[in-house]
This record gives sequence, C-alpha cells and structure tokens, in this order.
Amino acid sequence: MTELIIILLILLPIITAIILFYVKPATLKPVRLPRQKGCTFCKKKQKNMVPYYNDHGSSILVCTLCLEYAERRAYRRQR
Ligand SMILES: [Zn+2]
Repeated sequence: MTELIIILLILLPIITAIILFYVKPATLKPVRLPRQKGCTFCKKKQKNMVPYYNDHGSSILVCTLCLEYAERRAYRRQR
C-alpha cells in the first residue's frame, strides 16, 4: 500500500507538469496574428503575409507588394 502512495507522489508532479505544459500555451499565449486574411492596404489575399504593428500597436497583415508602403509608414515588423 505504501508503494502505491510513493508512486502517486512521484507521478503527481509529473502529471501536473504535463497538464500545465498543455494548458499554458492555449490560455496564456497571446494570439499574435490578426484574424484578417487579406492585406491591410490592398485587401488582397497572399500566401506570404508579413505581420506588422500599426500606429496604434495592433497587428496587421501586409502582403509582399505592400511591404514598402508599410516600411514607409514606419510600421514595426513583428518578430
Ligand atoms: Zn497588399
């Protein structure tokens, strides 16, 4: 019987660690990419969209054609 308690005591932190590992990314990780699918400027949908922060600090997506425009507007690129 004591062996069972020892096993439980060993397993409990491992189980909680596993649960925290899987729960944390879903709850605490902020969603960095905006929900919009099209480019902020030309509204076109492209595969290689680059996430930027606009003047208000919110995320926007910029297509490769509008990158120059975003840089000119001094938008910060997300990393
Ligand atoms: Zn664009």
